[in-house]
Amino acid sequence: MTLEQASTGMETTIDVPRAEVCPTCSGSGARPGTSPVKCASCGGTGQFTRAQNTPFGQMISSTACPKCGGRGQIVTTPCEDCRGAGRVHRRRKINVKIPQGVDSGQHLKLRGQGEAAPEPGGQAGDLYVFINVRPHPRFTRSDSDLMLEVPLSITQATLGSDIEVPTLNGKARIKVPAGTQTGSVFRLKGKGMPRLHGSGTGDLHVRVNVRTPSALTARQKELLEELAAEFGEQRAAEKGDKRRPEKGEKSLIDKIVDEVKGAVQ
Ligand SMILES: [Zn+2]
Ligand SMILES: [Zn+2]
Repeated sequence: MTLEQASTGMETTIDVPRAEVCPTCSGSGARPGTSPVKCASCGGTGQFTRAQNTPFGQMISSTACPKCGGRGQIVTTPCEDCRGAGRVHRRRKINVKIPQGVDSGQHLKLRGQGEAAPEPGGQAGDLYVFINVRPHPRFTRSDSDLMLEVPLSITQATLGSDIEVPTLNGKARIKVPAGTQTGSVFRLKGKGMPRLHGSGTGDLHVRVNVRTPSALTARQKELLEELAAEFGEQRAAEKGDKRRPEKGEKSLIDKIVDEVKGAVQ
């Protein structure tokens, strides 16, 4: 399921292969109109009891009758639909209600929806449905809290801004104060995942990443240069050696590396 589905809860139908009580013989394994007969080997008890005299006294042990498999009865005319097994394999569509707030690794137990009991009249087993929530492309989950990363321009971060951020099921606004640093985290209370069984909702933590602009218009560049001058900065291109090393020519750093290598040898 998706993170959105985990936050709202969902109702779904799953396809379950399972053993069910054979409807033809109602689980007895005997063809309709016939009945299983009492096992002659164990006399219908399904067990062999053996008494043994030992130095510690008489020991009584019992084992299942191998002839009837412990049932005490033998099917002489097997049911054609289950070949005497009393159970048939079916695929069932089972409706499952998944509550909001579930997480991967958790499971739901559907009582009595598992396999039919191997013995006629026995209680059917339970069906365990394991939850697997797919990772979300934008939100990271930690229990009931969610984490989101959003980009921030240098002007938004420097001057402060009112930005819109996505929440799992909508949108929210954050007031970014002037002078916000990259990596700052803003908490949106109650915008995370609902906790299981209705005990409140987690928070959404929004981490801002200040993006350095790479493609500038001439005007933007001009303004930033003015700003740089205002900060008293000198641009790298103005003070350094503008000449790039030609192909085959060693750069300054390569020359230094060579010299260091020479000194070591
Ligand atoms: Zn049957
Ligand atoms: Zn028997």
